[in-house]
Amino acid sequence: MNRFFSSVRLAALVSLAASAGIVHAADRGTVDRMYVLECGESKTSDVSANWSPGVDVGVAREFSDNCYLIRHGSRLFLWDSGMPDAIAAKPEGVSAANGLLTLWVRKTLASQLRALGIAPTDVTDIAFSHFHSDHVGNANLFTSARLYIQEPEYDAAFGPNATKFGFNPALYAKLEANPTTKLHGDHDVFGDGSVVIVSTPGHTPGHQSLLVRLPKRGAVVLSGDMVHFRENWIHRRVPARNFDKDETLRSMEKVAALLESEHAELWINHDKAQSATIPKAPQAIE
Ligand SMILES: [Zn+2]
Repeated sequence: MNRFFSSVRLAALVSLAASAGIVHAADRGTVDRMYVLECGESKTSDVSANWSPGVDVGVAREFSDNCYLIRHGSRLFLWDSGMPDAIAAKPEGVSAANGLLTLWVRKTLASQLRALGIAPTDVTDIAFSHFHSDHVGNANLFTSARLYIQEPEYDAAFGPNATKFGFNPALYAKLEANPTTKLHGDHDVFGDGSVVIVSTPGHTPGHQSLLVRLPKRGAVVLSGDMVHFRENWIHRRVPARNFDKDETLRSMEKVAALLESEHAELWINHDKAQSATIPKAPQAIE
């Protein structure tokens, strides 16, 4: 790396770090606890076909797909809803993405919530990293929750050209009637800094991430599909199926600065190896 590039990069990082000062010193509340739910898994026979273009050609890869349920006082916030529970009826799996992927749901989201004593209508607040079908697969269950969504994602998902963005409106159509907060950037959900939606566009027009402050474990950033696994994060690789590559790269630098300023862990939804290290419901994470 030459010196000019590194000083430009440093300046960019400094300005990103300033803009990543999303949580103010006075607003460092914590949630009560979080449950990580297993909301599907998938396998491709060639990871280079979409996820790491040009790299690891012909190499198979498996992916996790998690949902995250957060308890904050009397409120229950759900982040992502995984693949459709209907896939559980096909133990042999379902082919998707023109045969690139096989999908499985081993335990339904509904059954995992039930095991926690929670009905879908108990969920008071909901947000999705983005509206691809492995994240909004069970969205229609949560008709009582307030929806938090970036306006560009709303316009893409609920507009006339949703399928052109790779969305399947039948999976989330009921949410159109939910109370909705349309966002234009970062948003402190409970007003105490404990759960902050972080605008990270690129993978889709209004892709977002989530900063969660846990009382014991500390801060965690859930990065949705900004990247799909650790190697792509380290090498800043953008998948082929992505709305805006430059925006995705900018979002990665924003999250890198946020991890630094908040001393946060990065949890990558589809990174199966990392997911295996994270306790799953019914165990709570504090
Ligand atoms: Zn995904």
